Amino acid sequence: MLANGTAAGGQLTTTTDIENFPGFPDGIGGGELMENMRKQSIRFGTEVITETISKVDFSQRPFKLWTEWNDGPDNEPAHTADAVIIATGANARRLDLPGEEKYWQNGISACAVCDGAVPIFRNKPLFVIGGGDSAAEEAMFLAKYGSSVTVLVRKDKLRASKTMAQRLLAHPKVTVRFNTVATEVLGEEKPMGLMTHLRVKNVVSGEEEVVDANGLFYAVGHDPATALVKGQINLDEDGYIVTQPGTSYTSVEGVFACGDVQDKRYRQAITSAGMFLTFSTQVTDLADLLLSPGSGCIAALEAEKYIAEKESNDEEPVTSVEKSTVQPTQEVNGEVKKESDGATTEYKSNPLL
Ligand SMILES: Cc1cc2nc3c(=O)[nH]c(=O)nc-3n(C[C@H](O)[C@H](O)[C@H](O)COP(=O)(O)OP(=O)(O)OC[C@H]3O[C@@H](n4cnc5c(N)ncnc54)[C@H](O)[C@@H]3O)c2cc1C
Repeated sequence: MLANGTAAGGQLTTTTDIENFPGFPDGIGGGELMENMRKQSIRFGTEVITETISKVDFSQRPFKLWTEWNDGPDNEPAHTADAVIIATGANARRLDLPGEEKYWQNGISACAVCDGAVPIFRNKPLFVIGGGDSAAEEAMFLAKYGSSVTVLVRKDKLRASKTMAQRLLAHPKVTVRFNTVATEVLGEEKPMGLMTHLRVKNVVSGEEEVVDANGLFYAVGHDPATALVKGQINLDEDGYIVTQPGTSYTSVEGVFACGDVQDKRYRQAITSAGMFLTFSTQVTDLADLLLSPGSGCIAALEAEKYIAEKESNDEEPVTSVEKSTVQPTQEVNGEVKKESDGATTEYKSNPLL
């Protein structure tokens, strides 16, 4: 089941080895990492509902959320929520080149920081497509690993900032080819074969040539998955959700955002940290908040604080130490057991918030 082209569990389910997630010195499979996160959050009481949210209404409280196929004008929302955390991600743009599908993740990548260090790229000729700051950053990062890095720029100049452009052009291992595009990816003709060559074309002269290329990195932008909330919360000029710096607060109180959907710079698993669209129907139900590190963690803590404050305003004043109704649980032979033999878990808000 896909939402915005990505399976439940997020982008990491589409990749094999994650080499840069802390705590896994030998790397871990993307699917396995996400399955572990899912199990861990369920163990602490999270209810995971795998559905695509197709429509939201943030103009009234509680917020309303409709699911795909059940969002007709007369249909009641499938869920209501006191707080919503949006973590719908951003998808890397592709170019639909001939050979792209075949060699995607077998030489082609949209993330140099994620994949650049893997053995297939070591001391090999690598290519980057793009002319902006991201392309410059990716190329200089890749120069640590490849034998050479060639940046293909469609126009006759870079869009990158002056400083980045100067650093890129001065780098001894980097060549920038202006007025040049890639037209085809070529490689081994076997299952899981790797790319080995790239066909490139000079858009001014029309000349084409086939060059050695063992890696191709796209730096042509991402599309944040924000169509769902457009017009309801503030987005920036590229469509990313605007959050207050250092927080997950959006322009609507009670709506939080984390991960790639609000981060156009880092876009890493650890900075996003596995948060997905999460909602709470009861103000006391802390179980609906998935706690994880990175901006997902910030959003979880801020949403929890928001709900706790709302609860204390709406209901009886709370004592200094709140007792949560949530207890760590584990699945034993299919049955959910409480971990702590009846003792109530103490849950305190982050004192730093
Ligand atoms: C091939 C690949 C390899 C990568 N390798 C690495 C790596 O090695 N190391 C690293 O740090 N980073 C890596 N990344 C980047 C990393 O995957 C992302 O930074 C991270 O997954 C972002 O997490 P997120 O939760 O913000 O968004 P995503 O992972 O994009 O998750 C968004 C989720 O929201 C769901 N969704 C979207 N719209 C809706 C909707 N309307 N209703 C319900 N659900 C919805 C999607 O189905 C998806 O599950 C890689 C990315 C890719 C594509």
